Amino acid sequence: MLLLVALTLTSVAQPDRALTLTYIANEGVLVATGSHRILIDALFDAPNPEYPAPAPDVLQRLVGGEAPFHDVELLLVTHNHPDHFRVSVVDRFLFGHPRTVLIAPVDVVQALRDSAEHWTAYQSRVRPLDLCVGERATQRYSGGWVTAFRTLHSGARESPVNLMYLVEMDGWIVFHEGDADSGPEIFRGVVEIGRAIDLALVHYWYPFNPIGRRILDEVLKPRHVALMHLPVSQSLISAEMFASLDDRFTLLARPGQELELRPGQVR
Ligand SMILES: [Zn+2]
Repeated sequence: MLLLVALTLTSVAQPDRALTLTYIANEGVLVATGSHRILIDALFDAPNPEYPAPAPDVLQRLVGGEAPFHDVELLLVTHNHPDHFRVSVVDRFLFGHPRTVLIAPVDVVQALRDSAEHWTAYQSRVRPLDLCVGERATQRYSGGWVTAFRTLHSGARESPVNLMYLVEMDGWIVFHEGDADSGPEIFRGVVEIGRAIDLALVHYWYPFNPIGRRILDEVLKPRHVALMHLPVSQSLISAEMFASLDDRFTLLARPGQELELRPGQVR
């Protein structure tokens, strides 16, 4: 059985359709391939004001399932911080999307169980992950598989639980770090899965910091990098700095911004 799972995870299906990322706010994105749609860290409305939140009309379209936010199969939450997750928004979303599965850290799920208005309507679609730091777990969803990696939160904090995710959809491999405490060693487990990363979502400062560079160039080696979690105060002054990066990098700074990877383009 273990061997079977390993073989399935490492068998490489070449993508035959484009991967589209739509930036929502902070670390919130929609990742879609045409046949599958996944939402990550996009459902919140009251962050620390230093970080952008989804606009009210965008949240309304998300919760209402308007294109391109229709038929979301999987919602991933990296951790329970107000610039990544809010009980009331996730509650409305899961209540209004009867097919969406939620994978999230155990403390995120506890917060929903404790105070979400419609919890009983969707609790059977919620999969809490209770992992120790350094552990990982793989789950199937309707479009492929997702592996979660437990890390410390940045600042070497045990709480809240932070999960990084490696997601497979239609042959594409997407990585999202949440707010991982950044040292190259915690990222090594991600590449042990044995699949090349097509798109990595990491903090905006990675390419400008020696440790971030090592994580990208020596460990993750992604084919494309989307930079996220840009503070509101830096969005204007940093434009020149980001312009110096090569075309592997895309800064996520404009709500609604799209990034498309086409089959063959990055392989
Ligand atoms: Zn955080």
